[in-house]
Amino acid sequence: MEVQMKKSIYPYDEWKIRESRFHIETNYRNETIFSLGNGYFGMRGTFEEGYSGPNGTSFNATYINGFYEIYDINYAEGGYGFPTYGEAMVNVADSKIVKLFVDDEPFDLLKGNLIEYERTLDMKEGFTERKIIWENEKGKKLEITVRRLISFKRQHLGVVVFSFKPLNFSGNVKLISEVDGNIYYGNETDDMRVGNNMRGKVINTIDSYVDGYMGWLMQTTKRSKLKYVCSVNHDAKTDCHYELKNYKSDDKICFEFSIDAEKDKTFQLDKFISYYTSRECLEDKLIDSAIYEVVNAKSDGANIIFKEQFDYLEEFWTDADVEIDGDISLQQGIRYNEFQLLQSVSKNDIANICAKGLTGEGYEGHYFWDSDVYIMPFFLYTKPEIAKNFVMFRYNLLDAARKRAKELGYKGALYPWRTIDGPECSSYFPAGTAQYHINSDIVLAIKKYVEATSDYEFLYKYGAEIVFETARLWISIGAYVPLKNDKFCLNCVTGPDEYTALVDNNAYTNYMAQMNLEYACFIAKEMAKKAPAYYTNIKEKIGLTDEELNEWNKAAKNMYLPYSDDFGIIPQDDSFLYKERLNAKDLEDEKPLLLHRHYLNIYRYQICKQPDVLLLMYLRRELFSIDEIKRNYDYYEPITTHDSSLSPAIFSILANEIGYYDKAYEYFMMTARMDLDDYNGNVKDGIHTACMAGAWSAIISGFGGMMTYPDGLHFMPNIPKSWKSLSYNIRYKNCKLHVNITQEKASFLLVEGEMLKISVYDEEIMLLKGNMVEKEVKKVDK
Ligand code: BGC
Repeated sequence: MEVQMKKSIYPYDEWKIRESRFHIETNYRNETIFSLGNGYFGMRGTFEEGYSGPNGTSFNATYINGFYEIYDINYAEGGYGFPTYGEAMVNVADSKIVKLFVDDEPFDLLKGNLIEYERTLDMKEGFTERKIIWENEKGKKLEITVRRLISFKRQHLGVVVFSFKPLNFSGNVKLISEVDGNIYYGNETDDMRVGNNMRGKVINTIDSYVDGYMGWLMQTTKRSKLKYVCSVNHDAKTDCHYELKNYKSDDKICFEFSIDAEKDKTFQLDKFISYYTSRECLEDKLIDSAIYEVVNAKSDGANIIFKEQFDYLEEFWTDADVEIDGDISLQQGIRYNEFQLLQSVSKNDIANICAKGLTGEGYEGHYFWDSDVYIMPFFLYTKPEIAKNFVMFRYNLLDAARKRAKELGYKGALYPWRTIDGPECSSYFPAGTAQYHINSDIVLAIKKYVEATSDYEFLYKYGAEIVFETARLWISIGAYVPLKNDKFCLNCVTGPDEYTALVDNNAYTNYMAQMNLEYACFIAKEMAKKAPAYYTNIKEKIGLTDEELNEWNKAAKNMYLPYSDDFGIIPQDDSFLYKERLNAKDLEDEKPLLLHRHYLNIYRYQICKQPDVLLLMYLRRELFSIDEIKRNYDYYEPITTHDSSLSPAIFSILANEIGYYDKAYEYFMMTARMDLDDYNGNVKDGIHTACMAGAWSAIISGFGGMMTYPDGLHFMPNIPKSWKSLSYNIRYKNCKLHVNITQEKASFLLVEGEMLKISVYDEEIMLLKGNMVEKEVKKVDK
């Protein structure tokens, strides 16, 4: 495949994303790119003053992570065990609204005369800023500046600082600040990846209140019966005289500032916003908590909150920043990705990270395997305390997963392919429930988490139970098949590649299930020895027997692991090599295939949406040699369309390993700048969080050459010719390691922790705190 490089949309800048002109045509996309969030709630980059452009050029939304409504799933021809309802993250009250009127004429980018416009997202400071000079139809000119921040430190808080200065007049200017909870769903789309199940009004107002500068709105979803309160408070900073009036209607609270504005004098309104929901807060505490948040914020003042944001990010970047000297476009891309991941990830364990973050309706706010396989590593090796929420989140869904297994007639636990609060929300089982591999993906996340943090308490108290229950599932769905030499086979499953479904012995699934079973046996033995009390407890709790352990051991040892002697590769599944082979290059006009072909007209070919065998080789890297990777790469690359944004990162990593350096670079470029350059033309529906985290892995594991094997960190760094250097930090076993790679040398410095054993080009090195070790960079021969 030839990777098409895209022209950059935003000017290159190490720490900022800039939009220097406003265009209706690019507005929808920019609303996603300039989204803000803190993992608890998020807002698309829609305007405080509103937007009057044509339909289909904007989508205004505020989301609270994990705050969902229920909808019925209706099937024309249903079936046993099909999910009957789904969950979708809902758009909640719009609290950022600040409308401005001059002579009763509303400020609107599409009306009057827009003289200057610039919007910036600052990734060091953590806020967006719009600087505007606008003239109304009567020639009255104003300078308007709007800053928006969603606080990382105070998870329930957001701030809008709206200021204006009349440039050529004095007179009445009105600001109306609102919270508008009248949310109506009308959107329809043919793209099945975009949520489309909410209709009409799904949230109703229970109560509201206004008093002086402060007020709140309490709403509830109709069916999931979740509640939330949005509260606001205001601080007007001015020498000008103004009057404040407040009022409310059915779903709205309003604060109207009528100002005797004076030429060249700035009026600044600081609006403090908070959200609390019944998912994390007791219902009778919702109002008080939301009020307290905004009252407290006002008394601290916006400056302190902006300073806190900077401090939080300074610490984040100290741990997570990846510095590329020699390529500003990639530098910007990787920072944007990391910043968006931080904005999207839940900092508690009752929510997780949505496929589209908190930036759009795409995939309905669902959590997928994306979290466990693609996204968790970024947090695990930079902010392990956040990574813990990923594994705990899965523990919190364990009962739901047990229930689902039972419903399907299986033992143990079966995790949902897509969900918010536990139930399977995929209505298309061939690419949903049949992706049983999610069970072992979660186990891999647990295994990597424990290896990297040595958090055995988590393992013994929570993780082990998941590992055992998921192991049970494999025994339920597998069988020893005589015609396969009595090997343990997993039939009728779907692997990660969604362009092949319901097949026997998908290699990825079998290898990963084997890991799941082996790890279950290993933990059981370890616990019996090292934590007998926990072990007895868990055995009693889930009725675990020694016979079961023997069964797991036997299944793992006898797992059928497909291999083709004819091609010297791992076949994706039993039938894959017997299908007609398509060339992805010939399908450019049909991409993504899922929007152009019936699934039956995809499944019958050798054509892949995303890596499957290759992903396996990356995740269980210790099992495969460079030659094997190369043969499989050469086989699968020409038939992969990359219709999933999860694809290019893995190709980049493996291309690096086998010495395909140009490809490694091109795929990396695509993954690092996928959203900033809108590669797939769908950024308007939301960012691609798995792709963003994949880009981090591609740089750390690919060019940075770091692989995480069960025995620790292994490095084989090798940076592109055009870079001067690459540096990054890794947290591992309570240590912090700084890695710096140039064309000639790789250096390793233990910044925190007493000692850490690593391996560099297969040579074991014991790093001691403060000592730097340098090694020559070796190139792999093509
Ligand atoms: C991919 C899945 C992924 C989902 C959500 C799909 O296009 O094929 O692997 O989990 O998107 O990101």
